[in-house]
Amino acid sequence: MTIIDIADNRLILNGQEVDALGGESFERVSPAHDVVVARYAQAGAEDVDRAVAAARQAFDDGPWPRRAGVERFRVLRRVADLIRRDRDLLARLEALESGKPISQALDEVDAAAELWDYAATLARHAYGDAHNDLGADVLAMVVNEPLGVVSIITPWNFPLLIVSQKLPFALAVGCTAVIKPSELTPGTTLHLARLIIEAGADRGVVNVVTGAGGVGSAMAAHPGSDMVSFTGSTAVGREVAASAGRLLKRVELELGGKNPQIVCADADLDAALDAVVFGVCFNAGECCNSGSRVLVHRDLADEFAAQVVERARRVPVGDPLDPATKIGAIVSDEQLSVIERYVAEGRGDGADLLLGGDRLTTGAGRFYRPTVFAGVDPGMSIAREEIFGPVLSVLAFDTLDEAVEIANSTMYGLSAGIWTSDLNAALTASQGLRAGTIWVNRWMDGYPELPFGGYKASGEGRELGRQAITSFTQTKTIQLQVGARRTRWVPGDMS
Ligand code: NAD
Repeated sequence: MTIIDIADNRLILNGQEVDALGGESFERVSPAHDVVVARYAQAGAEDVDRAVAAARQAFDDGPWPRRAGVERFRVLRRVADLIRRDRDLLARLEALESGKPISQALDEVDAAAELWDYAATLARHAYGDAHNDLGADVLAMVVNEPLGVVSIITPWNFPLLIVSQKLPFALAVGCTAVIKPSELTPGTTLHLARLIIEAGADRGVVNVVTGAGGVGSAMAAHPGSDMVSFTGSTAVGREVAASAGRLLKRVELELGGKNPQIVCADADLDAALDAVVFGVCFNAGECCNSGSRVLVHRDLADEFAAQVVERARRVPVGDPLDPATKIGAIVSDEQLSVIERYVAEGRGDGADLLLGGDRLTTGAGRFYRPTVFAGVDPGMSIAREEIFGPVLSVLAFDTLDEAVEIANSTMYGLSAGIWTSDLNAALTASQGLRAGTIWVNRWMDGYPELPFGGYKASGEGRELGRQAITSFTQTKTIQLQVGARRTRWVPGDMS
C-alpha cells in the first residue's frame, strides 16, 4: 500500500542535511497501516557533538543573538506563514507517524503556527528594566541576555506542537538549539527545521538529530549546551534532570499527568459529559492533559457513567486519514501493551468494566476501543497512573473537599477541571487543587498567552505566556556611577 513517498531523511546540522557519521538509519512504520512511511538517520554521540558544536558556534560567534529583536520577529513570523503554507503536508506526516486523526493533526498544525506568531511578537519585547530610584549617584540597568544553546527533547504525541512550545521562544531571545524529536515521529520536526532555514534563520541556529533515547541522554549530559527543555514521561524527565543537574544546566520539564475532572451535582451535565468523552478520547488518550479520571458526585455517579458509555461507544475509531475518524491508531505495539496491562490491572482490582477493554481489529493497525471503568477506588493503578490510552476511570465522591483530596492524591499535578454552577465553590476548589491549569466548566483549551506547566511530578518550569521567554534568558545588572563617588572603601575596614 502506498500512502506516501517514502522519504529518506538526514540530520540537519549547521544549515545542511547530512548523513549520520555511523551511516546507520531506522524506519518508521505507520501504526495505522503497518507500512514504512519514512527512513531517518540514526545519530550517534559524535553527531550530538557536531550538533552542539554548530549551535555553540552560532551562539558564540554568529549573528543570531546579536540581531535586533525586530529581525528575529520577521524570521519567526515567516516560519508561521510557512507552517500554514505546508499545513496539509505537515498534518499528513503527523497523522501517519503518530496515528492521530487527520482532523486533529490539522488542528495541531494550526495551533503550532499560532505559537510561532505569538513568540514572534515577544522577540520585540525581550527588553529589561532601568532604575533611577537607587540614589542620586547611581543609575542601574537590568538586561536580559539569551541563555545560550538549548537542547530540546520531545515526545511523540504532539510532535509539532510541543517543539513549537519551546523553540520559537528560545529563538525569539537569541538562543540557538539542538532538537531531538521522538524516534516514532521525527518527520514534522525535520520539516519544521527546513522551514526555519527557508525563513532566513542563520546557519547553525537550529540543528536536528534523530534517534532513540540514547541520543537524548547524550544531549542532556553534553557540557556544550546551557539548558535542556524536555517534554516526556516523568521517569525519563528524572534522568534528564539528574544528568543536566550534574553540569548545573538549566532544566525545564513538562511531564506526565493523571488529570481529574470533578463533576458536582449542580453541573451542566450535558456539557460535562461532552468534555469527559472528549477529554479521554482526544488523541486516543495519548495526551498529557487527558482527563483520564472523572470524580462524580455519588448521587449521579452511576447515571453519569452510563451516559459516558452511551456517548463513548459512538466515537468513531479507525483510519487516521479518514476525516470522520475521532480516535486513530495507538502509536506503537509497546504503548498498546501498556494500555492492555493497565486494563488488566483494573479488572484484577475489581473495577467495573462498562465499555471497551479490548483492541479493535480494523485492518493491519493498532487500535483500541474507548474504555470506561466505574466503581474505581482512588488506590487502584487505573486511578493513579498515567495510562496514555482511551481509558477512563469513574470515581464517586460525597463532598467537594473529599473530591479535591482525591484529585490531589496522585504524584501528578498537570491539570484539573471542575464542573459546577456554583462559582464560589469552583474558586475554592481551584485554590485547593494542586495543578498548573484548572479548567472551570471547560476542558483542555490552551492559549499561547497562558503559562502552561505542572505541579509535583508533572514538571518544573512553565512554557507559554509572556514569561516564556524568561526561561531562555539570564539577567545581568549593570550599575553606572553618576557624578563623583561619595563613599570610598578603606582597606582593612570591613565593618
Ligand atoms: P518518553 O519520556 O519516553 O520520551 C520523550 C523523549 O525523550 C523522546 O524523544 C525519547 O526518545 C527521549 N528519551 C528517552 N529516553 C531518554 C533518556 N534516557 N534521556 C534523554 N532522552 C530520552 O515519553 P514519550 O513516551 O515519548 O511521551 C509520552 C509522555 O510525555 C507522557 O508521559 C506524557 O504525559 C508526556 N507529555 C507531557 C506533556 C506536558 O506538556 N506536560 C506533553 C506531552 C507529553
